[in-house]
Amino acid sequence: MPGPKHQSFRHGIHPPEHKEDTAHLAIKQFPFAPLLIIPFSQHIGREAVPVVKAHDEVIRGQLLAKADGFMSVPIHAPASGVIKNIGLVPSIQGTMVNGLYLESYPASTQEILEGNPCPLDAGKEEIIAAIQNAGIAGLGGAAFPTHVKLKIPEGTHVDTVLINGIECEPYLTTDHRVMLEQTGDIFTGIRYLLKATGAERAVIGVEANKPDAALMLKDNAPNDLAVSVEVLNIKYPQGAEKMLIKTLLNREVPTGAHSVEIGVIGINVATAAEIGRLLPHGRGIQERVITVGGNAVNHKGNYRVPIGTPLRFILDTVGVQGTLSEVFLGGPMMGQAAPGLDIPVTKGTSGVIAYSRDKNAPPQKIYPCIHCGRCVQACPMLLNPSQLGLLAKKNQYEKMADEFNLKDCFECGACSFVCPSHIPLVQYFRIAKSQLKKAQAA
Ligand code: SF4
Ligand code: SF4
Repeated sequence: MPGPKHQSFRHGIHPPEHKEDTAHLAIKQFPFAPLLIIPFSQHIGREAVPVVKAHDEVIRGQLLAKADGFMSVPIHAPASGVIKNIGLVPSIQGTMVNGLYLESYPASTQEILEGNPCPLDAGKEEIIAAIQNAGIAGLGGAAFPTHVKLKIPEGTHVDTVLINGIECEPYLTTDHRVMLEQTGDIFTGIRYLLKATGAERAVIGVEANKPDAALMLKDNAPNDLAVSVEVLNIKYPQGAEKMLIKTLLNREVPTGAHSVEIGVIGINVATAAEIGRLLPHGRGIQERVITVGGNAVNHKGNYRVPIGTPLRFILDTVGVQGTLSEVFLGGPMMGQAAPGLDIPVTKGTSGVIAYSRDKNAPPQKIYPCIHCGRCVQACPMLLNPSQLGLLAKKNQYEKMADEFNLKDCFECGACSFVCPSHIPLVQYFRIAKSQLKKAQAA
């Protein structure tokens, strides 16, 4: 049960969880799509550089594209097959990006190529290099290259690695299942992470709606590992790093700063598990666990899906009922609406949530702001979403940034969720930020 010692972050909301459909379903291997779509940039930073060419035969786990410098990660073959084409592929942004198409061999045993194992007693630099070579980028959705996070600046001391098992997004049960089914991998991953950062301890945060996962972790925590498991009250968006640090450690990450500056490195629990699963075998990441759910899906579940699997193949395989109205990559709060079904699952995709709506239902109407203050009460960053929304309507983006701290908004969607006027505040803020970025670049 959650301990009274934890001071929760301020504000936040309690959206319906919708986790009951998949939380009890064990992870299943998903079939290989005949054609996989693999963008060279599935992470924040520089895109990977291809090392294969069209018509090359590749083995599952083989390097397809190498990292372009430190702020980049490589891409590995998610299946054995043949490279059909290298060129432009569709992306979640709705644009075409550099990548390749891989035709998987239906008769292949799909055995995974192994490389040089990284021993548990390896040095700091060796572990950081092994994590980069495995192509690992934050699996919680951020897709930030994990090895970059672990490179602690000279003169900085990290005391805690925070393992984020909160998974507060509605529908998603990926991390929940990973905590239950890959408990050993998580602890192995933590051993590497503690060594790489020099931190004294790891703390795993789990919300109270996953008591079986918390128990599994507590019961299996190795005696010789400095790790504790903390169960927290349920509140959205507790999975956001700043919020979790506040709740668990009662530390504040200052505006514009990184958690490392207050001695903390946050790692998603599935990322920790992947480090523990891959490094002992010298493998690269070629698949990930995702939740497939939403009211349109017939066979909801948690699936280990090859990277590059197109959404269309996923939905055809699980079956869809009704008229598909919207598909989200990630959860419905912080995920992105898919611009089409030909885009692939990438390393940062934690879920595919598909909705069907009554086609005769009238579209949701947007009403004017009634100044009820609910959005202000919801915002975990203590912003004024109502005021920001009014400025966004007038395209006053600079004022939003300069006077109302738009940059502190991490697009959790809590304000939009509570707004009785159905004002799509978070969409306005995303547009404002992208316009400001464009203006800066110009
Ligand atoms: S989307 Fe931004 S403004 Fe809205 S509640 Fe979240 S952090 Fe606050
Ligand atoms: S919740 Fe909606 S209606 Fe209420 S103050 Fe915020 S923007 Fe206005």
